[in-house]
Amino acid sequence: MKTILIIEDNISYAHVLTTILTAKLKVRPLHAMDYKSAQKILKEQSGEISIALIDFYLPDSDKGETIDLVNEYNIPAIVMTASLSENTLELIQSKKVFDYVIKEGPHSTDYLIAAVDRMFKNRNTKILVIDDSLTTQSHIRNLLEIHQYIVLDARNGKDALNILNSDSGIKVVLLDYNLPDTNGLALMRQIRASYPMNKLAIIGISGEENPNLSIKFLKEGANDFLTKPFLSEQLYCRITLNITILEQFNSLYDMSITDHLTKIYNRRYFFELAPKMFKNNLRQGAPFTVAMIDIDHFKIVNDTYGHMAGDTVLKSIAAVLKKSFRESDVIARYGGEEFSVFANNMKNEDAFRIFDNFRKKIENMKYKISDSDFNVTVSIGLCTEAMESLEDMIRSADNNLYTSKKTGRNKVTL
Ligand code: GH3
Ligand code: MG
Ligand code: MG
Repeated sequence: MKTILIIEDNISYAHVLTTILTAKLKVRPLHAMDYKSAQKILKEQSGEISIALIDFYLPDSDKGETIDLVNEYNIPAIVMTASLSENTLELIQSKKVFDYVIKEGPHSTDYLIAAVDRMFKNRNTKILVIDDSLTTQSHIRNLLEIHQYIVLDARNGKDALNILNSDSGIKVVLLDYNLPDTNGLALMRQIRASYPMNKLAIIGISGEENPNLSIKFLKEGANDFLTKPFLSEQLYCRITLNITILEQFNSLYDMSITDHLTKIYNRRYFFELAPKMFKNNLRQGAPFTVAMIDIDHFKIVNDTYGHMAGDTVLKSIAAVLKKSFRESDVIARYGGEEFSVFANNMKNEDAFRIFDNFRKKIENMKYKISDSDFNVTVSIGLCTEAMESLEDMIRSADNNLYTSKKTGRNKVTL
């Protein structure tokens, strides 16, 4: 669990922060009333502290001394202040501060929580800085490291591509226009050939002398653009904004391919992935199996134990399916109480045994609703012979499923 040091002389505000931080972020808060007690805590426990929230105005420190103290221990700081004069702002900006927040109403605690959360996320976020000037490189690196990002740097296009290709975790690229072996626009085109806008944010950077450059960058695939010289906060805001957009895109995408109840793929995504696998397997002559699975008399489960119990059954079966097959197989909720599996590299002679084991697992699972125990069974239809089209194979598996149903249910038909 991460530890947060709250340095705040207003006891009720410290209490509010402690409560909210513990509830929302699962962190362990430590509290210091002033500079002196913060000094004592830091001496003893600095190694455990991930971040410090510092009230700018403390009884024994009102000129940023506490920020300096925390900086000495290399602990990132978020400054809280009741009022923000130009002088205070300048003072805060001149120090190593992750962010600052004005203590005004509930919005400020939301902002603080978001800032702390962002800082934890930044520690896992990699940014590649592509710039041939050593001075600019180290300036940007310093700024990014205050914000806890993992910084990688490249001084030319060739190194940049090598780093990108060997490190798949890079989220943002800061790309200068002037490079020794290429220029930013040409390099961006090369990067975009493998990394689309929704996977990697590219922020173009250049001096003010050519205003059209920003337009070219944006038209040719940059997510954003910054003109030098920029304020550190402009850099931070652009990066945060672009990372947020990437995250939102990814979570929307995940939602669009996932069944909301069972959290496995939905039918739409099954028909996006399975045809590709079908073609690959045919080309390589690799064995594979298509399976259709339907819960037996599921209507009775709903009618007897209620819809919620039905939902629990659907979730459990999906979870067992996921555990029973490989990461490389496609498992989807095909419809209401029907599932489909595209199992790669599954030999004809193994398919029956594997699916029959799965069938037995489901049969042996017990559900408990109020005072009654019950179990459910599934009927399965397989198609293990490659056919002309995936649709033909699904139809054949479906026919076999129908045979399983007709001949008594709780069985696998091949
Ligand atoms: P069979 O053995 O012939 O397949 O009978 P069955 O009752 O399973 O088949 P039927 O198609 O008659 O009924 C399917 C039931 O699945 C009806 C429907 O309400 C239920 N169902 C579909 N989606 C959900 C869901 O998301 N949650 C719950 N609880 N029930 C669902
Ligand atoms: Mg059914
Ligand atoms: Mg059905």
